[in-house]
Amino acid sequence: PTRSEITYFGAGPAALPTDVLEKAAQALIDYQGTGLGIAEHSHRSELATNIINEAKADLASYLDIPTDQYEVVFMQAGGTGEFSATVYNLVGAWVVRQHAAIVKELGEGAGESAIVEALRKKVESDLKLDYIVTGGWSLKAYQEAQRLLGPEYVNLAADARTLSDDKKFGKIPEESSWNLSKDAAFVYYCDNETVDGVEFPAFPEILRPDANGNGPIVVADMSSNILSRRVPVENFSVLFFGAQKNLGCTGVTVAVVKKSFLAPSVTQPSPALMRKLGLPIPPIVLQWEIIAKNNSLYNTLSIFDVYIAGQVLKKLLATYPDKVDGQQAVAEKKAKLIYDALEAHPEAYRIVPDKSVRSRMNICFRVIKNGTVDESEKAFLKEATAQGLTGLKGHRSVGGIRASNYNSIPLEGAEKLAKFIDSFATA
Ligand code: PLP
Repeated sequence: PTRSEITYFGAGPAALPTDVLEKAAQALIDYQGTGLGIAEHSHRSELATNIINEAKADLASYLDIPTDQYEVVFMQAGGTGEFSATVYNLVGAWVVRQHAAIVKELGEGAGESAIVEALRKKVESDLKLDYIVTGGWSLKAYQEAQRLLGPEYVNLAADARTLSDDKKFGKIPEESSWNLSKDAAFVYYCDNETVDGVEFPAFPEILRPDANGNGPIVVADMSSNILSRRVPVENFSVLFFGAQKNLGCTGVTVAVVKKSFLAPSVTQPSPALMRKLGLPIPPIVLQWEIIAKNNSLYNTLSIFDVYIAGQVLKKLLATYPDKVDGQQAVAEKKAKLIYDALEAHPEAYRIVPDKSVRSRMNICFRVIKNGTVDESEKAFLKEATAQGLTGLKGHRSVGGIRASNYNSIPLEGAEKLAKFIDSFATA
């Protein structure tokens, strides 16, 4: 089929707007009449810096990120890299805070070995990382923290699998049941679980900062729902997202980091101190502080990927005068069309997650019409593909059908899928 004949519902990489790709194709050959393509220009050139700065500014504008308090950095190791970066950077920041408190307590005259000994005890008794596990991706992040730091420091503060008889994801545990640590190095959650179709309906109340802005250090993975709804940025210390769903193409990951976690406020502890404490030392490319200090150019960055993200943002800003609120309204409308079509045929479909936490981005369901589920789903996928509705197969770990309803799916694409869902059920 040709590009215009299909609507691609894949979970990521996602489809990109055709006009953005056409412009990018030209830019790959010759960027702005320089005779050199965008992937060939130096990342140290003024032109590259302009692309980075514009993409940062447009992202901040679109999401209303308060840039006096937050820094946007482009990272390179994917969402998975940020699972590790979160642990390294925020454990480092925790050690810096504890070190300062111990020096204050013991007095300026205290010897280095006494300080390290007190710190070692503090690590042993108090260092805790809290994870809210609501799907496959937060589970992976939790497991990475255990691997890097040791399971004794990592607290499974909530586990959605305990809520179902078959230990599957599909609900978010009541906030009152979350077992949060006192003064955790951070609390982590995944705002939208791409594999399981579970999305937080709103920011968790229990993590909300008080009137003075004091609260837990909250980190969220927003890889698969960023740019699709308003984000209360001030409630987070860090949020991150890979580009390959709603922002651009695979290759860059964005971290939005509160400036109080970057130099000069909190610097990372020395490698020597971390070694004495038996805590891991981050690879330098995963240190937000280093990347931020270098405006995302500590080492060679794919400027092409940043350019694509920048063009997507420019298109969003031009399309929606009320910025992300405009896109949010469309995302909700598209999701409702698809869920309504599924709900109209309970004899043919079973939506996987609980209604209260259904994702607007990844719509996961089973086809139960006739024969076995397996046969029904094969028939559904085959007929959908024949109609140009592609990429609907569920993640290999859970099976079923998944319609990824990212920003690049036009309203007509969602309408077409809703119609197909209806006609398949009644055929
Ligand atoms: N987090 C979420 C929510 C994801 O959907 C994904 C990938 O699909 C990741 C993290 C991992 O991202 P990456 O493959 O870029 O490491």
